[in-house]
Amino acid sequence: MKLGLNLSFAIKRWVEPEILASVIKDELNTSDVQFTWDQVDPWWPDSQRNEFAREYKEAFKTKNIKIHGYFAGSSAYCYPQLLAPLKIQRKIAVEYFKRAIDTAIELGTDIIGSPLGSLSNRDAYDKERRAYIYEETLNNLTEISRYAKEKGIREIHVECTPLETEFPSTPDEANNFIEDINRVSYIPIKLLIDWGHAVFKPLYGEYADMIEWLDKCKNNIGAVHIQQTDGNWDRHWDFTKDGIVTKDKIDKSNAIKELENLYQFLEVVPIYEDKDENVLAGMKKTMEYLNDVFEG
Ligand code: FE
Ligand code: MN
Repeated sequence: MKLGLNLSFAIKRWVEPEILASVIKDELNTSDVQFTWDQVDPWWPDSQRNEFAREYKEAFKTKNIKIHGYFAGSSAYCYPQLLAPLKIQRKIAVEYFKRAIDTAIELGTDIIGSPLGSLSNRDAYDKERRAYIYEETLNNLTEISRYAKEKGIREIHVECTPLETEFPSTPDEANNFIEDINRVSYIPIKLLIDWGHAVFKPLYGEYADMIEWLDKCKNNIGAVHIQQTDGNWDRHWDFTKDGIVTKDKIDKSNAIKELENLYQFLEVVPIYEDKDENVLAGMKKTMEYLNDVFEG
């Protein structure tokens, strides 16, 4: 697989389009990024949001940086979105995803992605309610996919999360969901697998293995999020920290033939209180290290 960079590391720190472009290209030495909804919010008023998005597009173009997708970050993940208990909430989520599609087009990219959302406690543990929300999600994502196709979006990526109160959260559930949604979707829906989610031991126990996830889902994957983590929580660390995402494991992931043309985007989410200089130093070391690993 190829190495890319998700821009979550930069939020609240490297914001101005030219400065962010320079950090990406001159400091971190990459040209392939996944833009985050935390940097430009789909909910902002259309005309101002679009104007700001186009400033990023231009600054990145000047530096020859390619935006490979526009992906949900921490703020979108706080809300229950498409898996919400109330119809009105799910309708709001559909509108949110449509606005993300509009924003992606302004940024000049043709992929959007996100986790689906979160079930309420009641719905997660009630079989009938859970099945009902599943059907609702298929319908709502179909509507989103129709809008996406109209606007020129090529793929939608669904991120798997390590919570039994969300779906998809296991390889089998993920593959079944992809099969179900692609029967009705207007454009291909694919999976995004995140290392920190796949190796989360409290949920998966001995099956907390990224290579198994990738192998089981390899025909349905659109992209990967790579991060350092300890398997106890979803850490989103850079690779200067000690964790269980080893060079050997990354090599194994990169050896999977079906995934060779896809990207693994480094998704570091720094602690808000960490100093900018520490974050940047960690990101530089991490990109150098990962570039070596990916070049083999
Ligand atoms: Fe992720
Ligand atoms: Mn995560």
